[in-house]
Amino acid sequence: MTGGLEGYDAVAEANAQKSVLAIHWSRICERLKAEVGEVEYRTWLRQITVGPVDEDEITLYLPTRFLRDWVRGQYGDRLGTLWNAEVPAIRRVELQVARPGSASATSPADGVTVPAATTEVREEAVPRPAVPAPVVEEPRHAEVRSDLAAPLDPRFTFDTFVVGKPNEFAYACARRVAERPSSPGFNPLFLYGGVGLGKTHLMHAIGAELLREGRVSVAYMSAEKFMYRFIAAIRSQSTMEFKEQLRSVDVLMIDDLQFLIGKDNTQEEFFHTFNALVDAGRQIVVSADKSPSDLSGLEDRLRTRLGCGMVADIHATTFELRISILEAKASASGVVVPAKVLEFLAHKITSNVRELEGALNRLIAHANLFGRPVTLEATQDVLHDILKAHDRRVTIEEIQRKVAEHWNIRLTDMSSARRARAVARPRQVAMYLAKQLTSRSLPEIGRKFGNRDHTTVMHAVTRVTELMEQDPAFAEDVELLRRMLES
Ligand code: ADP
Ligand code: MG
Repeated sequence: MTGGLEGYDAVAEANAQKSVLAIHWSRICERLKAEVGEVEYRTWLRQITVGPVDEDEITLYLPTRFLRDWVRGQYGDRLGTLWNAEVPAIRRVELQVARPGSASATSPADGVTVPAATTEVREEAVPRPAVPAPVVEEPRHAEVRSDLAAPLDPRFTFDTFVVGKPNEFAYACARRVAERPSSPGFNPLFLYGGVGLGKTHLMHAIGAELLREGRVSVAYMSAEKFMYRFIAAIRSQSTMEFKEQLRSVDVLMIDDLQFLIGKDNTQEEFFHTFNALVDAGRQIVVSADKSPSDLSGLEDRLRTRLGCGMVADIHATTFELRISILEAKASASGVVVPAKVLEFLAHKITSNVRELEGALNRLIAHANLFGRPVTLEATQDVLHDILKAHDRRVTIEEIQRKVAEHWNIRLTDMSSARRARAVARPRQVAMYLAKQLTSRSLPEIGRKFGNRDHTTVMHAVTRVTELMEQDPAFAEDVELLRRMLES
């Protein structure tokens, strides 16, 4: 606090401000009493006195450290929310210990005219100050809500996120939300895409950006954690508190929402939290592995609301993006990785960024450890197991099975001579995916499809590529299959 208590009391404006604060405070007290009950209120909250406002922060005093800590832990956020609702300029509440007996200059009760109806509350809520002589305390900043959320990974920022075709839209939406949270049309922001493609990274980047601005409280957690917190709250009969905590944040981010499929109670709770926050003008960011409409098993009303804001998908990486990511990460590491090696990795490890990064990290660690330059040979050696696993990742049989299931044709038609389009097209897709997802040669692939010629496979690859360009629905089908096979 700046300016000093005397200065604060000295000016007439300050008195006026105090009386206004007292009115607000009495209203807040009424609400608190209604929310927590008379007993709780009398035990803990009645002892609060209102201190000065400094910019966007109001100081509240409690007579002991114990009381201060308790109130901070249990009601700190709620007090912040209520103050903010009353006086939008107040965005933070600072709780301090005020030593009893010292002179007070900040009693809002001093010279305050409060409407008769609220007098009683005022008397109770704003007792003649037992005295704000603030003990020096570490300030409590609006921050990432570590009490109810997971910490943000400092490596996941917008700066370290490499943008390319597959993720540029999601990136732009994330940036936009970080710049102007709660804008209509961007609330909620729903990010979806396969595993390891950067959803969590983008969410953390939003959080980091907002916190850098220092204006908001951000809570990030996985849907799984949300569920565990919720269940724990039910067990300890503290669901009210859990709700309040969640509903007091400015930005709530829930990662991997697909986890809530089939968890009806948790979904219900999330739905209500979601509505409360959006109605209060707070921002929600959600990620999942599928689009809202494809998340079967999610309650319809929740699905509908999730799709109401901005839905942005992150597509599977392209070769170009994989190269850019590898280049960025290699250069950040300080180890020289030849372009040939980067290309080799980008060709071999196509599943997702996480694996790509893992492979590169191992290579870099190896180079640092042994002080040897990174070569293609060394790479094949060091990453032997990863590369092998990748080769084996998807088999042609698996691809055939999945594709046949998807279009509802018989598995045997993958190798049959039937040429009807209903079977020929899926067969071509399977060939295309076999080329994309395995390291088999064209003749090898041809053999697995009823001993077809390698030119047939080549034709299939070209045809599917063309069709994907012309027909977005078809492209989506193929992408979906690819994702399923890769995960
Ligand atoms: P998801 O949450 O979609 O499963 P993550 O966000 O956890 O994926 O990303 C996996 C790893 O890949 C993380 O280490 C992340 O930093 C990295 N990553 C993903 N996409 C990018 C990108 N476009 N640029 C840089 N790193 C990325
Ligand atoms: Mg994730």
